[in-house]
Amino acid sequence: MSPTPRPVPDETETQQDCVLALDVGGTGMKGAVVDRTLTPVASLRVPTPRVQGPEDVVDTIVDVLRILRDMALDRGLPVRHAGVVVPGIVDEARGRALWAANLGWRDLALADVLARRTGLAVVLGHDVRAGGVAESALGAARGTRNSLFVAIGTGVAAALVCDGVAVTSGGYAGELGHLAVDPHGMACACGGRGCLETVASASAVVAGYNAVAPRPVVGAAEVADRARSGDPVAEEVWNRAVEALAQGLASVTTLLAPERIVLGGGLAEAGPLLLDRVRVALAGRLTFQRNPELVRAALGDRAGNIGAGIVAWSAAGVDAVAARSASEAPLPVSRTVDIAHAATAAAAL
Ligand SMILES: [Zn+2]
Repeated sequence: MSPTPRPVPDETETQQDCVLALDVGGTGMKGAVVDRTLTPVASLRVPTPRVQGPEDVVDTIVDVLRILRDMALDRGLPVRHAGVVVPGIVDEARGRALWAANLGWRDLALADVLARRTGLAVVLGHDVRAGGVAESALGAARGTRNSLFVAIGTGVAAALVCDGVAVTSGGYAGELGHLAVDPHGMACACGGRGCLETVASASAVVAGYNAVAPRPVVGAAEVADRARSGDPVAEEVWNRAVEALAQGLASVTTLLAPERIVLGGGLAEAGPLLLDRVRVALAGRLTFQRNPELVRAALGDRAGNIGAGIVAWSAAGVDAVAARSASEAPLPVSRTVDIAHAATAAAAL
């Protein structure tokens, strides 16, 4: 693997300026140089060094932003803003990452730290809210004014779009994974008990299966495969997740009445095995409420990154969604450079 990526300019290089978009996840970061139509001009992926602690994670974000900036400058594109989206509790208005279970930081003035260390204008966002905004503007919730985007991966988090506005509430809105679905359930990492994500996250599905089954699995996709082939333990674990999700979504539907619910993240990769079953289980819980459409996410694992681009252009005063929407062509995918060690690559540039 080359430590010094120097992407070759391609035909997408048509704009005069750009933003940097970075989606920081628990296991990996996805970065892109993004033009005014949200087209990624260049993309990269790098592992998140979370076991080394929050300082190393911040160092890696800095290195990745420097690499992306150099990718942009190589193409003659001045960088307007950098949009960085992270998991946990994020106070977007104040640029502070308040809490993240996986990444370990507590009340960190992340936007200021990154701006000082990179010289870039940095705007901070929340990964799932950014993904929800992207799905709402350009993906599976397009055309609705009230939607719920649910990312089901290591945890469960949601983005609420109500009357066309993404609800933030100081960073605390959307913690669907910590809605209690079983008062006698398992202890949750948040300190609560019986939270939705102790039953219905991808990792909970794996743990629930491996706790009972003689042949352990590595990922939730294997549990889904075994459920499809009639493994009774897999069936039981899967259905428990489905019922818990339906219970959580019924509560949200009663309170906020989304027209459409978009399921994304690793568990949604199971497709109809999740979607069809949750749709039936949810409908069975509703009486007077409007039954929301339940659909799979359209942007896949790019949603957070596209959302980071929207956040960055918005901070620059540019309506990139309108520019993108003017084109009916699907959002292009750029070639992605995989970087094993961001610090080595940044130093070599
Ligand atoms: Zn919890």
